[in-house]
Amino acid sequence: MPKYNIDPWEMALNQLGEAARRLDLQKDILRVLSFPRREYTVNFPVRMDDGSIQVFTGYRVQHNAARGPSKGGIRFHPQVTLNEVKALAMWMTWKCAVVNIPYGGAKGGVICDPKKLQVSELERLARRYAFELIPIIGPEQDIPAPDVNTNPQVMAWIMDTYSMHAGYSVPGIVTGKPVSIGGSLGRNEATARGCVFVVLNALKHLDLPIEDLRVVVQGYGNAGSIAARLLAREGATVIAVSDSRGGIYNPKGLDPGAVLEYKAESGSVVGFAGADSVTNAQLLELDCDLLVPAALEKQITADNAPRIKARLIAEAANGPTTPEADCILAEKGVTVIPDILANAGGVTVSYFEWVQSTQSYFWTEREVNLKLRDVMDRAWAAVAAKAEDAQVTLRTAALMLAVERVADAIAIRGVYP
Ligand code: NAD
Repeated sequence: MPKYNIDPWEMALNQLGEAARRLDLQKDILRVLSFPRREYTVNFPVRMDDGSIQVFTGYRVQHNAARGPSKGGIRFHPQVTLNEVKALAMWMTWKCAVVNIPYGGAKGGVICDPKKLQVSELERLARRYAFELIPIIGPEQDIPAPDVNTNPQVMAWIMDTYSMHAGYSVPGIVTGKPVSIGGSLGRNEATARGCVFVVLNALKHLDLPIEDLRVVVQGYGNAGSIAARLLAREGATVIAVSDSRGGIYNPKGLDPGAVLEYKAESGSVVGFAGADSVTNAQLLELDCDLLVPAALEKQITADNAPRIKARLIAEAANGPTTPEADCILAEKGVTVIPDILANAGGVTVSYFEWVQSTQSYFWTEREVNLKLRDVMDRAWAAVAAKAEDAQVTLRTAALMLAVERVADAIAIRGVYP
């Protein structure tokens, strides 16, 4: 088995190489796709509440824009690195292509610990970062969205900052913004809802009834907590969940809504009454049917993959499985719904939001959810058919489909000048 460095950018390049090899992709196109189009680094000052000035480093990477403006979230986290942002930007290119929406991929990040910042400091940081990005973002150029530790409020600050500089309101500059300023109904739940739609397809494919499904969710933020609630609503039993402080486990089942309320009050799922404590490492290896990693990258590795008991993994998070772990899971017969399909519901409804924002014509939540289901069902069908056809895993199939679509766009547009 090949030995991979688990740097996320190497992981992303490696996945691209594998898809290109299977597609017999032209070397020139592979070369183009192996570089992000733009890597933007900004070091910017922020006045803190105590009067001092701190300098923060942020990135925005635009991987490819052959199919349309680039699109991708913004992450605030102490461990953000340029290579992580580059990988996430490339995955966004593939994700948009898998669900066939007219976008390329981008991602942004600021190295900071939002938990240690006052709200006033966070607002100044978000606004100054947005200001620094003005030359390279725009509703027809590059459209940010929320990611880890950013939310609709942060999007509102970014939209306001951009609009102040334009001299008029530009709601199409970000997605995932509050509904009151042009956000879409259903966007907040979209990543999790899209994930549940593909899980339902996978269950049909595997002939597993949802009522028998014991689910473990790692990460209890936007993607994880909503996925837990929607899966429970569909009839599954959520037996364990976790956040950055640790996990809770009850083999008889947890009430995901009550856990969320407890986390909102206490700051963590840890300590929830009627459940045992588990570490994040133990949580991943619990006896269950469906594992939903919904936290950060590189959680399922060559170390723990041999002990993973889930039959199905739905990657709500981006890049939670290392390539080595992927090989081990495939050998064990575990079905992995890859990130670029499993969490594509978020960017799909972001696209719906952008369409609504730029037309100033808004849809009902029912319309949004029906259109999302349609997109996710079609994407699942295309990926599953490709996997069957090429006799590859769902991840390789999704990558092949995406790379093929982006490569076609590059080839038909040609190289300027
Ligand atoms: P979030 O900030 O709302 O939640 C992240 C959760 O993960 C938090 O509960 C946090 O405590 C937990 N966490 C952090 N480190 C952890 C660890 N080591 N072990 C266990 N839990 C840990 O973020 P989110 O928006 O839900 O994003 C989660 C993942 O989903 C990320 O990989 C993100 O890129 C991906 N994603 C999110 C969206 C979206 O629309 N929000 C869309 C696509 C993909």
